Amino acid sequence: MKGENDPLASFWMPFTANRAYKAQPRQLVSASGMYYQSADGRQILDGTSGLWCSNAGHCRAEIVEAITKTAATLDYAPTFQLGHPLPFELAQRLAALMPDGLDRIFFTNSGSESVDTALKIALNVQRARGQGTRTRLIGRERAYHGTGFGGISVGGLVNNRRAFGGGLPGTDHLRHTHDPDRNAFSRGFPQHGAELADDLQRLVDLHGAETIAAVIVEPMAGSTGVLIPPVGYLHRLRDICDRHGIILIFDEVITAFGRVGGATAASEWGVTPDIITMAKGLTNAAVPMGAVAVKRELHDVVIESVPGGIELFHGYTYSGHPLAAAAGLAALDVYEREGLFERARELGAYWEDAAHSLKVGRHVVDIRAIGIVAGIELEPRPGAPAARATELFHAAFDNGLLIRATGDIIALSPPLIVEKAQIDEMFGKLAELVERID
Ligand code: PLP
Repeated sequence: MKGENDPLASFWMPFTANRAYKAQPRQLVSASGMYYQSADGRQILDGTSGLWCSNAGHCRAEIVEAITKTAATLDYAPTFQLGHPLPFELAQRLAALMPDGLDRIFFTNSGSESVDTALKIALNVQRARGQGTRTRLIGRERAYHGTGFGGISVGGLVNNRRAFGGGLPGTDHLRHTHDPDRNAFSRGFPQHGAELADDLQRLVDLHGAETIAAVIVEPMAGSTGVLIPPVGYLHRLRDICDRHGIILIFDEVITAFGRVGGATAASEWGVTPDIITMAKGLTNAAVPMGAVAVKRELHDVVIESVPGGIELFHGYTYSGHPLAAAAGLAALDVYEREGLFERARELGAYWEDAAHSLKVGRHVVDIRAIGIVAGIELEPRPGAPAARATELFHAAFDNGLLIRATGDIIALSPPLIVEKAQIDEMFGKLAELVERID
């Protein structure tokens, strides 16, 4: 046990093995473009866009300038019964990027808040429609929807749920779509599993459609280790929702802003939900911000459901914060000017080939890649689940590469400015390191 004067003791780190980290800290002290600099003076190639969020690379001058200027002009202004121009402008820009019809934007400060906001909006919409018995929220096994009580209740990762009580009442879960027996090493969308969407019909048959408000899924499940939807799966979910008056929410906290090639996975993959949650990438991660895009009819039904006064009793002190909104506008400018979403789409094939070059690697049991995302699944070491990926994460960092380990899966999601040579470097290094892991 370290003493009271340990400078690392006070910060209770999120989602971290605190004791292990503090015994051997690895610190980042600055960042630029594709690289972090570590406290011991090394360049670390960012294979994960921080935490899937710095989509245009780090410390982009335009974004830094927008934040600096705004901080000196309007450090803060409330958006409860008052306003300032920046979030109106950003909302309009975001609305134009969303699939047709999702043009009403609510601002939050994180992905978790976006998820809880989306769930609350869905409940409020059903009530405003006169469908107040629809209170059930459906998620999916292995889903990650952040850490709020709503998010963990519809989420499907047991470690994020078991210590925290019963969660929201009246939730249920679809089965997840990970099926390595049929789909291992698939290219693009896996062929098998569209029928898993019929789980929603099973839950309708079990609970009654009149009890179900909404279903929330990540179009591509990221945090659980990159699960790409089977061909036809998302369309089938959409159809079942339409048949039964269920609101479909896509949690695009990871997939929005170019990660899979378009502004959203919804637009890229041709399935339009009723609500989209976003966060990572919105400001290029320079200031925390999230957003929820809502179909105009859903927004209008809530707005028109009350004769006057406040329509939606929900919001955050920092909804539409000036610094975040300024960073968001500057980030959208960078994405647009540099064509980064199209770049991700065009680089996708090169990226996928590079990822699949690891197929011959030791312990590699599956590889999944789409857009600029890849999941490399390792066989767990007997009796030591997650050890291999954790060791690989540390070895990669010590060799100048930031990757992400989740269970025994390595996830990669570099900034969309990544060059082909850097892609080669990432997978070359990983190929070498994976051979060294027992
Ligand atoms: N939803 C999804 C799909 C995510 O991947 C995440 C974070 O990884 C969240 C929600 C939570 O976002 P935040 O950590 O900003 O609260």
